[in-house]
Amino acid sequence: MVNVCDIQVMKPLLQAHGFRFSKAKGQNFLIADWVPRAIAEGAGVDRDTGVLEIGPGIGSLTQQLCLRAGRVCAVEVDRRLKPILDITLGEFDNLRIQWDDVLKLDVPALVEGEFAGLRPVACANLPYYITTPILTALLEAECFACVTVMVQKEVAQRMAAAPGTGDYGAFSVFCQYYAQPELLFEVPAHCFLPQPKVTSAVVALRVRRNRPWEIRDQELFFRVVRGSFAQRRKKLSNGLAAAFPELDKSAAAEVLAQAGLAENVRGEVLGIEAFARIANVIFDRRSSV
Ligand code: SAM
Repeated sequence: MVNVCDIQVMKPLLQAHGFRFSKAKGQNFLIADWVPRAIAEGAGVDRDTGVLEIGPGIGSLTQQLCLRAGRVCAVEVDRRLKPILDITLGEFDNLRIQWDDVLKLDVPALVEGEFAGLRPVACANLPYYITTPILTALLEAECFACVTVMVQKEVAQRMAAAPGTGDYGAFSVFCQYYAQPELLFEVPAHCFLPQPKVTSAVVALRVRRNRPWEIRDQELFFRVVRGSFAQRRKKLSNGLAAAFPELDKSAAAEVLAQAGLAENVRGEVLGIEAFARIANVIFDRRSSV
C-alpha cells in the first residue's frame, strides 16, 4: 500500500501530477499516519460497516477505512485527484469513488443504494469551510448509526457542549438532538500539509435510535432553539417574542410559565427537554386558536 502520509512519498506524487492545494476546497491533507488509523478505529468501522467518506483527498483516511470496512463510498469534488487516487486506492475492491459535491447529493438514497445489509456510518476529515452544512446534511439524513468527523477544535467543543457553558448554542442542541457527541482526541496543525491555522479535533456522533423527548413539531422546536440563542444576552421571553410574531412579550412570558420555567430564564442554561416543553406549549396554543 502506498504510504500517503509519508511526506517523502506524498510530495513527489503530488508534484508528478502537477497538483496544487486548493484553499477554497479546504484541502489540508494528513501527513501523520497515526491520525487516519485512530479516526477509522474511533469510528468503529468493521466488515459489517458501510462507510460514506467525504473528501478522500489523496486517500490517507480512505485506505484505513477500506482495510476495515465491508464497503466504502468516498465522495470527492476535486476531479484533479483522480489519477492520484487511482494509484493510492487502486488495490481496494470494496471502494467506489463518487466525483461530486457532497452538498448536492441525496445522501439517504446513496446510502440505501450502496450499503444494503451493512451498518451505515459516515466518516471524514471535513473541509472546514463547509463543516456546518455537511454535518447538518449527514444528521438530517437520519440514515447513519454514527458520524465521525474531524473538525476545527472549537467546533467540536460546541458540538459536545453542555447547557450553561460558554460553548453551548443552537448548534450544540442541533447535534445533541440527533446524536450523542463524544470528543475523541485532538490533532495538532503539524499533522497536516499544508498546516491549518487551527487545532483540530475528532468527534464521534453516536446517532440516537430513539429520541427521549416528545416534540410535537420538529420545525417549530428548532425555531424555538434558534430564537432562544439569537439574543444571548437578553431574556428568553424577548428571544421568543422576536422569533414568533404571534407572541408579544407578555404572551412569551406566559409560554415560559406554562412550560414550568422562570420568567427571567436564559436560553443558554436550558437542555433539550426544556426547549421541547416550550415548543409544545406554543404548538398547543396555535392548535387551540
Ligand atoms: N481525507 C483527506 C485527508 O484526511 O488527508 C483530505 C481531507 S481535506 C481536509 C478535505 C477534502 O474534501 C479535500 O479532498 C477536498 O477536495 C474535499 N472537498 C471539499 N469540498 C467538498 C465537497 N463539497 N464535496 C466533496 N468533497 C469536498
